[in-house]
Amino acid sequence: MPEGPEIRRAADNVERALKNKTVQDVFFAFPQLEDYEDILKGSTVSRVDTKGKAMLIRFDNGYTIYSHNQLYGKWMIRNLYNYPKTNRQLRLALHNEKKSALLYSASDIEVLRDEEVSSHPFVAKVGPDILSEEVSEDVLFQRMKDKRFFRRKWAILLLDQGFVAGIGNYLRSEIMFLAGIHPSLRPEDCSDSQLRKAARAIIDLMQQSYKTGGITNDLELAEKLKSQGVKRPRYRHWVFNREGASCFVCGTEIEKTVAASRRLYFCPVCQGIL
Ligand SMILES: [Zn+2]
Repeated sequence: MPEGPEIRRAADNVERALKNKTVQDVFFAFPQLEDYEDILKGSTVSRVDTKGKAMLIRFDNGYTIYSHNQLYGKWMIRNLYNYPKTNRQLRLALHNEKKSALLYSASDIEVLRDEEVSSHPFVAKVGPDILSEEVSEDVLFQRMKDKRFFRRKWAILLLDQGFVAGIGNYLRSEIMFLAGIHPSLRPEDCSDSQLRKAARAIIDLMQQSYKTGGITNDLELAEKLKSQGVKRPRYRHWVFNREGASCFVCGTEIEKTVAASRRLYFCPVCQGIL
């Protein structure tokens, strides 16, 4: 499943194709949305926001298209009416003078009035989105101390979209590694300085992954490994997907475990229980 950084990159593509342009033609596959085709036609896209794994396309006439890709949804940006050959089902199409933004396979699409967005069930419960909002280290630090989150295991908490939006499985392992947190721990077990380190790791890794297309490893190290002929899956992450390989920091074998039914990778020394 794509994580926050991948969704933000998809949103950037949609925004590049549509922003500040008048929508000339609209298609919704779902009959309950058909009435919105005429309402949105002739309006202008003002921006494209993300809220974790959801996308919000904002129009200048007070409407917003909410979409959540779940596992299967995929955006494709094409020259006008130049549909790709695909077996996927077209669910939403927005066309302007030059481009067509096409959403395939997604089933979770709604049209909302702007004032309804914040009370939408998903938007209302999802946590701050590092890549679409200004979120400080301090805000995250305070959030970790909130009683809703403080006593839950990190390994569960980091995948909870209500804590921070957009963290998925590879980011979870990478954040815990960078913060030096063992998979068995909870925020309650950590010192304040470790919590701040975790807050910093969440912000830095999400932003770096967004900018680099998914590289969470140290960028100099990744570049060096790449120049030595190491393949991307082997230099992309600190620990994720590296079971049995040597930790880039201490040389210890990376271990794999399962938490919240998903695989989690960690270094038993860098993330030792103190
Ligand atoms: Zn290590």
